[in-house]
Amino acid sequence: MESYGNDNSCNTLQDSGSNGSAITTRRSFLAGLGAGAAAMALGAGTVANAQAAGVVTGPLRASLGASAPAAGKTAIKFFGHSSFSITTPSGKVIYIDPWLKNPLNAASAEADLTAAKAKCDAIAISHGHFDHVGEAVEIAKASGAVLCGMLELGLALAGHLGYPRDKATMVTLGNLGGATTILDGEVTITLVPALHSSSLTVPEAGEPAGSDKTQTVTAGSPTGLVIAIKGGPTIYHTGDTEVFSDMALIGQLHKPDIMLVCIGDHFTMGPKAAALATKLVAPQTVVPIHHSTFPLLTGTPAAFEAELKSAGAKAAIKVLKAGEVLES
Ligand SMILES: [Zn+2]
Repeated sequence: MESYGNDNSCNTLQDSGSNGSAITTRRSFLAGLGAGAAAMALGAGTVANAQAAGVVTGPLRASLGASAPAAGKTAIKFFGHSSFSITTPSGKVIYIDPWLKNPLNAASAEADLTAAKAKCDAIAISHGHFDHVGEAVEIAKASGAVLCGMLELGLALAGHLGYPRDKATMVTLGNLGGATTILDGEVTITLVPALHSSSLTVPEAGEPAGSDKTQTVTAGSPTGLVIAIKGGPTIYHTGDTEVFSDMALIGQLHKPDIMLVCIGDHFTMGPKAAALATKLVAPQTVVPIHHSTFPLLTGTPAAFEAELKSAGAKAAIKVLKAGEVLES
């Protein structure tokens, strides 16, 4: 088994900017997540298992980076784990939890990152853990993408890891229940509760970028993200969470068409709870996420699908592989 710390070929999570801003390694982030996370393995078998895990539906696109939709449509592209891009009917591009270098996306990670740096209008992040912040800082430095998410997460990303300060302001950052309308009114993002934790692991004060001497700083409350596209779908990305009964309110308030729901267990709810969550929210379509990335994430799409049936949830399940696009 190969651990994160030995994966030198892709150990750097945030590239250094020209101003010498912080480099934070995956090892550093994992140190903040505890010993269990440090045992995560990244063997090639993980990817194979993930690809064999479920029935794949939805149109498959060969393009890298974000995917352009048909006229009047919204393209939702999955990069594995919890990472997506959304391309709006007018061609605006939003990345959600942009960990493009996750193990499930290894084959096209570099090309996807290049594409994201070339075109990204906004980045929405659910919470501060490394598997959700991903390459956000690198993408934002190159693209000028504004940051949407919890206020403290944005301040910490700008203050400690070099997210461009003029792109991480109160104009686009917010707090639970608050809606932010961006991109010329085409997209509205509402932060909703998630039962999880949220922190960033960064170099200690005075330590150089990439140092193993790290500190963990608060990133505010974790969130889910409700992303409403004008003339398109409303998408609820749960972030990392346990099920909670107030998910029914998210369904009542926002009427999501598509729910991107974590199912992997260990760090989030597993398939049974995720099926109940889906029933509470009542979307038309549900896409399982945050599974198959590491051996610790044992929840599978097949188990989730069985639990959906058992719970009597009416949503249609779409299981996406990294690189596949759901068009709506
Ligand atoms: Zn996570």
